[in-house]
Amino acid sequence: MKTKDKGFNTKLIHAGAFEDEFGSATVPIYQTSTFKFKSAQHGADCFSGKSDGYIYTRIGNPTIRAFEQNIAELENGFDGIATSSGMGAISSVYMALLSAGSHIISSDAVYGPARGVLEQDFSRFNVDASFVNTSKTENIQAALKPNTRVLYIETPANPTMEITDIAACAKIAKENNLILVVDNTFCSPYLQKPLDLGADVVLHSITKFINGHADIVGGVIVTKDPVLYKKIRHSMVYIGCNMDPTQAFMVLRGVRTLALRIERAQENALKIANFLQSHPKVEWIKYPGLTTHPQYELAKTQMKGFGSMMSFGLKGGYDAGKKLMDNVHLALLAVSLGGVETLIQHPASMTHAGISKENKLAAGITDDLIRFSVGIEDVEDIIEDLKQGLLII
Ligand SMILES: *Cc1c(COP(=O)(O)O)cnc(C)c1O
Repeated sequence: MKTKDKGFNTKLIHAGAFEDEFGSATVPIYQTSTFKFKSAQHGADCFSGKSDGYIYTRIGNPTIRAFEQNIAELENGFDGIATSSGMGAISSVYMALLSAGSHIISSDAVYGPARGVLEQDFSRFNVDASFVNTSKTENIQAALKPNTRVLYIETPANPTMEITDIAACAKIAKENNLILVVDNTFCSPYLQKPLDLGADVVLHSITKFINGHADIVGGVIVTKDPVLYKKIRHSMVYIGCNMDPTQAFMVLRGVRTLALRIERAQENALKIANFLQSHPKVEWIKYPGLTTHPQYELAKTQMKGFGSMMSFGLKGGYDAGKKLMDNVHLALLAVSLGGVETLIQHPASMTHAGISKENKLAAGITDDLIRFSVGIEDVEDIIEDLKQGLLII
């Protein structure tokens, strides 16, 4: 079924799917490492690009292709590149777009290892990186160097929930010949479409909202144009961080309910954010859907909804936060996010532990910050869980 001109929900269910000889309603799992050529000539044609037949699963596989085409349509992109993890997607993009002597500007509050891999690994290959608060675009202007090649942003940022103006970044990127890469994990294409706002590359940890069920790890990259697509696919295939066919099958199942899950989770999140904001033991809360969020207006124009991620700090600081994390029973004390279940964690000692204390503080990742990923349980039960946890602090 052609889905390019159809609505988002129709694409969720049908984009990328293909008919097999048995009329299977779902895309089958092609659990094979290699594909038999019809002839020696066919094999040669597959390698030269004359034929688009499958060769080897690291290079391509029908189940994986179905997911790549599905997400490409959801993001309004040219094509998708599925990876074994979100970090596989990020590393493939860095590998494809950066060279010795080049410079990248990144949001300072990003997924911990997305920053760590630049600081600890790409630095060894003479790649220079600046980390700035991209929610203020003047910081990006100030960090520009003659060798800047890439602008990498995450919005809302993990875990500070700061919002970066994607269209404004796209303008800066265009004026300075940079490639704008957006990590869209916190929103998914249901809430935010960076390519429509001028980004060149969008990527995801599909481990989070896109798969949504906390049962697989995976990643994906979508580009706006074929040249970037070819370049990044080459890096992914050479690094060898391809998605597995079973992973692709799982995420094709998970993505179908993306809109329904996000709608419910963000409805819950707003109620929880309001509860926390008015709780006497809560010192601060950052959720894009609260008018107290400094970029509420930007969030409203850039995002279709406010999502289900928030961060907050308690009056008793880290000690109180630790007590809360040890005393909630419904919310799982676990990293990751964007699943059907509610999760709570402490970025400074967990997801962002690999970043120096000084850099964490500069990026706004304070010791009292608790990250909360709201699930689709009954909201009364989540609030009750927080209420009893806060009671004993
Ligand atoms: C989890 C996450 C990643 C990394 O993805 P993995 O699937 O864990 O490798 C990247 N960016 C964001 C925003 C994330 O939350």
